[in-house]
Amino acid sequence: MPVERVLLASPRGFCAGVEKAIKALAWMVRVFEPPVYCYHEIVHNRHVVDQFRAQGVVFVDDVDEVPPGAPLMLSAHGSAPEVVLAARTQGRTVVDAVCPLVTKVHHELKVRARKGYTVLYVGHQGHEEAVGTMAVAPDAVHLVQSEPDVDALAGRLAAGSAVALLAQTTLSHDEWAGIMARARRQFPDLWMPNRSDLCFATTNRQAALKAIAGKADAVVVIGSENSSNTRALEQVARASCPRVLRVNGADELPGDLEGTVGLTAGASAPEALVDEVLDRLAPRLGIEVVHVTDEDEYFPPPPELRDLLRGLAGALGLGLGAPAPGPAEVESGGQVADRLVSAAEVLAGLVRE
Ligand code: SF4
Repeated sequence: MPVERVLLASPRGFCAGVEKAIKALAWMVRVFEPPVYCYHEIVHNRHVVDQFRAQGVVFVDDVDEVPPGAPLMLSAHGSAPEVVLAARTQGRTVVDAVCPLVTKVHHELKVRARKGYTVLYVGHQGHEEAVGTMAVAPDAVHLVQSEPDVDALAGRLAAGSAVALLAQTTLSHDEWAGIMARARRQFPDLWMPNRSDLCFATTNRQAALKAIAGKADAVVVIGSENSSNTRALEQVARASCPRVLRVNGADELPGDLEGTVGLTAGASAPEALVDEVLDRLAPRLGIEVVHVTDEDEYFPPPPELRDLLRGLAGALGLGLGAPAPGPAEVESGGQVADRLVSAAEVLAGLVRE
């Protein structure tokens, strides 16, 4: 039996933070002669990273690898304060593409630590976002990855300690809910932000997937293995669908999919990959989009980039060697109408140039 129908989750794919980061790096590529350096993968998606590599971007895991004076971008996941400080030395142009929702968690951690709280941070060991966040107040924070981790900490903390609970933005809601409930039981006076740190994009993509996973014979999640929100989508789908596959692209689809297939994409996966997967699945009865909410969040370019672009018209006149930006991207007077252009268009434009 071939694939009969595809249930396509909406929202899916690029979130506002990823849009911001990709567009910012694309500007760096256009403005500076290669190589442009990027600390960590700009976003965790193999296709996006490979596209930038092809444009001369060099991804590094240590800012010491970046030559003095070379342009450097810091990834969307947020960097440790000492990394940001080190990056800004040696005459480099540094643009920090951290998502504002990650910055919000950094801020919460800084404030709670200053107020004397012990902070439980729910996250995944070794993930760049968790590493960068915990480095904000390493002496005050403890990584928590499971409910037993909460119990273990409760046994070690002095009675009456002020305790706060923060989280990585891309967790699965079910994973978060279990740990939060346990922490509330263990620490009745627990401090938490008014809204959980799980971001709107994580929440919306998981809600859309929940709406289709129970009706599908198999769910396909497009995204890279090191993408935390993609892994969370896999987890969500597994709760209600017997077969869940994560693929980087259409070439990884197995040949035995049949019946109804649910399809979604992680927050760093380009929509072009969704189109390729749909072409390969070729559902006999068509595609049904299951839309659970509108998403119109927009994050403007990083301030350092805005400053850089403000002088772009003059810089272009002085021959920086960058191709002129398109009319939709630069309004009269050099103001960037960034919102009008999608990251997908920008990526496609880079490949053409
Ligand atoms: S998934 Fe959420 S926190 Fe991460 S970049 Fe997107 S909006 Fe920001």
